[in-house]
Amino acid sequence: MLPACSVIGILGGGQLGRMTALAAANLGYKTHIYTPEENSPASQVAYKTTVAAYNNAKALKAFAQSVDVVTFEFENVPAETIRILSEVKQTHPSLEPLYIAQNRLREKKMATELGIKTAPFLPVSSLGELENAFREIGYGGAILKTAELGYDGKGQVRIRGLEECEDAWKEMQNQPSILEGFVDFACEISVIIARNEEGQVATYDINENTHKDGILRVTRVPSSVTPDVENTATQNAIRIAEHLGLVGILAIEFFVTREGEVLFNEMAPRPHNSGHWTMDAARTSQFEQFVRAVAGLPLGSTERTTDVTMHNLIGDDVLVWQQYLERPNVKLHLYGKTKITEGRKMGHVNYLGTE
Ligand code: AMP
Repeated sequence: MLPACSVIGILGGGQLGRMTALAAANLGYKTHIYTPEENSPASQVAYKTTVAAYNNAKALKAFAQSVDVVTFEFENVPAETIRILSEVKQTHPSLEPLYIAQNRLREKKMATELGIKTAPFLPVSSLGELENAFREIGYGGAILKTAELGYDGKGQVRIRGLEECEDAWKEMQNQPSILEGFVDFACEISVIIARNEEGQVATYDINENTHKDGILRVTRVPSSVTPDVENTATQNAIRIAEHLGLVGILAIEFFVTREGEVLFNEMAPRPHNSGHWTMDAARTSQFEQFVRAVAGLPLGSTERTTDVTMHNLIGDDVLVWQQYLERPNVKLHLYGKTKITEGRKMGHVNYLGTE
């Protein structure tokens, strides 16, 4: 158990790091952010910041020496970075969950090995392989995704017919990829699960998520799924967290088909946008839960206190932030980002009770 005033080192300076730093402060911890970015959202509210590149071994070692435990707020941390850090200090989560989550093929194989269903998928590393894969699983349409480094719908191309394969492959620029059968889903859901070193596990109510252009827009809780679907998704999440020996927090996204099948899509071993509602509508927010898990504290209650809808403020959406202040059932969270760009997550609002 980390004593009060210990320092939690966080790799990454985005909004997830910012909200984690705020939660850590409430529990009496300090945070030290490591990010290449000056004036990052997280460093604005942290005790200390190191601005350096993720491949700067000297800076990484000094950072690890100056903190009591290391964690991260994004999953594309280079594996070598974690290796360097973990030689000096304990990192939570460990390299294993991160390594798997960094690659769509690895995570889907893991799910399959655990008996968890996914959309049909095949690895693709050439145009010929893509065409063969499309013939095999693309009959209802398909999506080609880069195996690594895609986020918010980036690095993805929809393929409707064999003749579209060539252009799609050009867009991938020869990067190792995965072809997935297109799922005509009834809805998309996610599960947020925390696990600590003692093996205590806590899950939240299922999130029902609406995406536009590959970016999460809205999360509703409670979701519209049946208790059976809720149970399957939650049990799958527990199986994955235990398999990974997770210490921290993990978000897992699933598609729910019209027949009520629950298909694993992807996971992220960090707090997740679809869990932002917990800041205002759960006894323990996902950020506090994350800090508790990383600091070796008992996990908190995940009980939901009200119905809630979370809306992201993306790009220009944020310009009308003041209007939310007039609404008694709306909680506003801004990320301290000065530059607005298209598709950039600038903040979010939680509507408590009815929207
Ligand atoms: P991802 O980065 O895998 O979460 O994909 C971003 C969004 O694209 C998802 O949230 C879905 O809305 C959509 N999508 C991704 N994969 C598929 C699929 N196999 N079938 C249908 N829609 C998908």
